[in-house]
Amino acid sequence: MENLQKSFDVIVVGAGTGGTTAARFAAQKGLDVCLIDRKDGNQIGDKICGDAVGSEIFGILNINPPQGDELSCYIKGAKLYPPNMKKCLTLIDPKQVGYIVNRLEFGQRLLSEALDAGVKQFLDNTMALDLLYKDNFVSGLKVRLKNSEKLDLNAKIVIDASGFNTPLRKQAKNPLIEREISKEDAILCYREIIKFPKEDQEVMDPEFISIILDQEKAPGGYIWYFPKNKFSLNIGLGVFMDYRGKVKELYQKNVFKNFIKTSNYEILSSGGGVAPIRRPIWSCADNGFMLIGDAACHVNPIHGGGIDPSMRAGFYAANTAAEAIEQENLSIQKLWDFNYEIMTGIGAEFAALDLLRRVLQKLSNNSLNFGLERELLSGEEILQISSTGSLDLSLLSIATKAIKGIANPKLMLDLNYLRIRMNEIIKHYKNFPKNIEQFEVWKIKTIEIYEKVEKMTYG
Ligand SMILES: Cc1cc2nc3c(=O)[nH]c(=O)nc-3n(C[C@H](O)[C@H](O)[C@H](O)COP(=O)(O)OP(=O)(O)OC[C@H]3O[C@@H](n4cnc5c(N)ncnc54)[C@H](O)[C@@H]3O)c2cc1C
Repeated sequence: MENLQKSFDVIVVGAGTGGTTAARFAAQKGLDVCLIDRKDGNQIGDKICGDAVGSEIFGILNINPPQGDELSCYIKGAKLYPPNMKKCLTLIDPKQVGYIVNRLEFGQRLLSEALDAGVKQFLDNTMALDLLYKDNFVSGLKVRLKNSEKLDLNAKIVIDASGFNTPLRKQAKNPLIEREISKEDAILCYREIIKFPKEDQEVMDPEFISIILDQEKAPGGYIWYFPKNKFSLNIGLGVFMDYRGKVKELYQKNVFKNFIKTSNYEILSSGGGVAPIRRPIWSCADNGFMLIGDAACHVNPIHGGGIDPSMRAGFYAANTAAEAIEQENLSIQKLWDFNYEIMTGIGAEFAALDLLRRVLQKLSNNSLNFGLERELLSGEEILQISSTGSLDLSLLSIATKAIKGIANPKLMLDLNYLRIRMNEIIKHYKNFPKNIEQFEVWKIKTIEIYEKVEKMTYG
């Protein structure tokens, strides 16, 4: 290992969807990039996941969409069911027609494209241990290499893309980088990929991902039923992190038994994972340091989708890193540009969806059945909320909803109050301060909006 390069412009920690994207675009901008991952190179991409990703991100980044071995199937949209499954809301967003990917093959392609783009050094089986600081700036990393040797690597900027359990976020010196993510802000998941012999069972709705809301069967989360193709599927559930029991048992009782109707099947993959479901951390940057993807809570709080946002964040972080290095300004004041891009984009959307998630998690099955059966939110409105985080209603549609919701006026009023707060927080995030000096005032107002929603009581 003596001839390893030890100094770089940028070190990216984690070769997941976020890290490979950051490394690729940083290298494309001409930076000297090192990418490290604790996994073996052949396992990059392998992750317990629902495997669904919308099409939009590939256009935005101008990279090839999943194809060939990476692609399981195309998806037209989503179907959303209330607990009693008496109603189904079909959500079709032409911009977000999507894919179910084979995670390993997809990840391998993103890695090889990053390497082709000019990443100087890729260290697999290498664990990031500690952030190195010099004069209050992150100056590199202590890592443990494949051969167990410990080594210091230097960088002008470190990008942390090491996922939800990142060891680096906990070492950041700036208090704006929240070290701990509370249990209420994450969900615990279990899922299996199941294949049927052709004659035994077919996958329902093989062109749609299906989501079932049920507070008893999947408390705090939902059950998902995603096709891989006509005869195999990715099926699982997410629940509150502090669920007192084994998630796998809950899955077997409430999901597997309900949806797998044949005794003739093969389980191709199984396992659990954790996803953050809240607004991004207060700051995704410090001096010489940026965080992207799950490490920074860049995940849609309603459905837990984080592939697209991690890739967006990787792209923005690479652009900001290139500018900062060119201007020889690695301070948080310069890297704040990255925060600004995140907060006024996915941050605004995710903060609004975070408010919605907090309310949804407190609704009973009766309220969910009532709300979805009577379409207190229609398919189009849910799509508008889930793709923009906001919902604008005309007076007429408010009046129509009031009539539909007459049997449960409290729920109706709660939903309208929530809608107003969601729109408020979006506007507030769109006004995220360009300058760090104004951040504290902005933060106080954010907390006030959250508190208003926390104070809501539910009928
Ligand atoms: C059960 C489940 C289902 C999901 N379903 C979907 C879905 O259908 N669609 C969707 O869009 N999103 C889904 N998500 C979320 C999605 O998987 C993540 O948001 C996305 O993978 C985030 O990518 P990332 O690059 O931030 O982190 P990760 O993909 O977690 O990558 C982190 C990388 O860092 C490496 N690493 C970790 N620690 C270290 C260290 N100390 N040193 C070196 N390397 C390290 C890891 O090996 C890994 O390769 C799901 C998540 C879960 C848990």
